[in-house]
Amino acid sequence: MYVSSIRPLVDRYQPSCILLLSSSFGDDLGARLAAELQAPFVCQCVDFKTGSSERPVFVKSSHRRMLYAQWMIAIRTCTIVTVVPEILDPFYPTTPCSPELVRIPAGPPARQRIFGRTHRKGDPKTIDLCEAEVIVVAGRGALHGKGYDLTARFADLLGATLACTRPLADQGILPFDRQIGQTGKAVSPKLLITCGVSGAFEFTVGIERSAKIIAINTDANARILQYADLGIVGQLEEVLPEMIDQLQHQRPFGEAP
Ligand SMILES: Cc1cc2nc3c(=O)[nH]c(=O)nc-3n(C[C@H](O)[C@H](O)[C@H](O)COP(=O)(O)OP(=O)(O)OC[C@H]3O[C@@H](n4cnc5c(N)ncnc54)[C@H](O)[C@@H]3O)c2cc1C
Repeated sequence: MYVSSIRPLVDRYQPSCILLLSSSFGDDLGARLAAELQAPFVCQCVDFKTGSSERPVFVKSSHRRMLYAQWMIAIRTCTIVTVVPEILDPFYPTTPCSPELVRIPAGPPARQRIFGRTHRKGDPKTIDLCEAEVIVVAGRGALHGKGYDLTARFADLLGATLACTRPLADQGILPFDRQIGQTGKAVSPKLLITCGVSGAFEFTVGIERSAKIIAINTDANARILQYADLGIVGQLEEVLPEMIDQLQHQRPFGEAP
């Protein structure tokens, strides 16, 4: 239905580019549209700009965002592009303009092939770090005493995804795909809580797109506190049991037991 609705619009408006959100749906629709229109398809684009020849240049990342490739479409034709969410800031024009909003009735439904489709939330324990909404990060400071067990328990009760800094991945405490940072993953959760993480540059490059950061650290001068919306200076072994207790009893923080 989507392809059959968009096809006449392309014929009518002759756009140079069609932008879609990069998601399982957007990438799928982009591929179908490209096949229908016999058009070039650039998927999972992280940036784009106008090149010297006035043709758009699309930027795609590879090798866990350590390499960026620039793509330019050789022919002048409508290009289908899917854009990775939360990577691009909203576009604000530098000069005032009033874009025209055109409402188009949807085309006739295509033959229905999927019935009773439902959505199920991913398990935070196995979900890709890049898609996690709440992340608890264990750092080397969690390797003392019961620090790691407390951190994992806290993440579990919070329904958060457990991640780590590089030293823990190097030691095999968590798999490499749970590591955040320059040689790990760049994440963009709504809430990220670090437990015993110093905040080395190679780590913080991976958390810059987090909406809110809470850091627990014994060192009041730890670099991570420069990034934190809320810093808790204290031992994990003292702070986490209290937070776990609050979660177990589902009491709002600060309320007397
Ligand atoms: C090329 C290169 C790439 C790298 N890539 C990455 C990467 O992708 N990701 C990454 O994480 N690192 C990466 N690193 C390593 C990075 O430089 C740091 O060494 C690493 O991030 C430090 O991890 P950490 O914060 O867990 O440990 P530490 O730096 O040792 O910090 C531990 C923190 O825990 C605190 N602490 C100690 N005990 C407690 C306690 N009981 N309660 C609370 N707090 C406590 C301490 O005050 C300290 O701040 C890379 C390094 C290089 C050279």
